[in-house]
Amino acid sequence: MQVKVVLNEDEMPRQWYNLAPDLPTPVPPPLGPDGKPISPDMLAPVFPMNLIEQEVSQERWIDIPEEVLALLYRWRPTPLHRAYALEKFLGTPAKIYYKNESVSPPGSHKPNTAVVQAWYNKQFGIEKLTTETGAGQWGSALSFAGALVGLEIKVYMVRISFDQKPFRKIMMETWGGKCIPSPSPYTKTGRKILKEQPDTPGSLGIAISEAIEEAVTDPSGKTRYSLGSVLNHVMLHQTIIGLEVKKQLEKIGEKKVDVVIGCAGGGSNFAGLAFPFMYDKINGAEIDIIPVEPASCPTMTRAPYVYDFGDTAEMTPLLPMHSLGHAFIPPPIHAGGLRYHGIAPLVSGAINDGLATPKALHQLECYEAAVTFARTEGIIVAPETSHAVAAAIQEAKKAKEEGKEKVILFNLSGHGLMDLTGYQKYFEGELQDYALPDEEMQKFLKVLDGLPKP
Ligand SMILES: *Cc1c(COP(=O)(O)O)cnc(C)c1O
Repeated sequence: MQVKVVLNEDEMPRQWYNLAPDLPTPVPPPLGPDGKPISPDMLAPVFPMNLIEQEVSQERWIDIPEEVLALLYRWRPTPLHRAYALEKFLGTPAKIYYKNESVSPPGSHKPNTAVVQAWYNKQFGIEKLTTETGAGQWGSALSFAGALVGLEIKVYMVRISFDQKPFRKIMMETWGGKCIPSPSPYTKTGRKILKEQPDTPGSLGIAISEAIEEAVTDPSGKTRYSLGSVLNHVMLHQTIIGLEVKKQLEKIGEKKVDVVIGCAGGGSNFAGLAFPFMYDKINGAEIDIIPVEPASCPTMTRAPYVYDFGDTAEMTPLLPMHSLGHAFIPPPIHAGGLRYHGIAPLVSGAINDGLATPKALHQLECYEAAVTFARTEGIIVAPETSHAVAAAIQEAKKAKEEGKEKVILFNLSGHGLMDLTGYQKYFEGELQDYALPDEEMQKFLKVLDGLPKP
């Protein structure tokens, strides 16, 4: 009985997989404020050119530089587990596998792109990166990356999370990152908002605007901005996850996967696991590929496919994606992450082409699944990850009803040891299910009126 499949460092993939050239319907280009496609050099004040090249690349395979591999070796390759205890508990004939991305030092898949982005920025002569963080996972991952590569990191953390989650800030500081509450007095955007609403809890949109403003206005020209999900180059870096899994399955003689599952906020951990399997699906393999979102933020299952801004302040280019509108505010009764209003253009494209079939789940079922998982497999997963666990359990139960020995694979995107208050609320009965009512959704979608259509 093999519970865990590990690879050696020399067995790690040497290239990332880019889905863009293989999508049957090409993803439309991002647009500028004038509605015209933006050119790569228009992004140059925000990102370094080497990453912009990856963002627009149509190459299927992109080499991972040796120095980047050396950074990834700190925690990769990550183990692939067979969930024997969960299978036994469910009495399912299905085999359940999970890829454990919680073993990175910050505890999630996010460092897979953080260290890569930090390295490419350093190569390009950049000295400082700015970013935003909501719950704090991305801010910690980038601070960790800054420590490894030798870059200054400045994180604008949404004010309310800054006050409620002091441990994340301490993690960032331990790695040498600077974490400040947003809105802050250090940017024009921040000062304006503080003057108008001194008691604001802040928002991801405001924090993004502050981080971009600091990057583009630095007179030295040595500061850039970094984003932890949504963009093509982020999806690309995360494909190391699925490429490793393929080698691991091959090692144990598992020839075919029937179901691939990942939770999706901006889409990066899902894409990381699923895109290498989509390659097989495009080439004829029969695989159900399921990104999972909360019913309270139904971007993939109910929102239209539109051009929308990536941030509330309308500073980013317009991206073609399924979106609830950039003014979307998730309901406060929801404890988990996965609250972003949009979903990566490449994931949106895969859904439109029928390569992925999204699913929305309610939070009580997700927490119940997470508790079952903790009591069988032992790992306390992140609230985001609980959506993938719940979908895997649904599929395993379905296989039991059908009497089929299916192979189910999901991504364990992170552990929940820094997010225990969600579990506490669940145990105390304070959480409720909430599906976004249609009238509410229509109201949020109004901000899209007048924007171009893909
Ligand atoms: C950030 C995060 C997510 C959501 O982001 P994606 O880009 O959709 O992967 C999911 N799980 C964990 C543990 C995270 O930290």
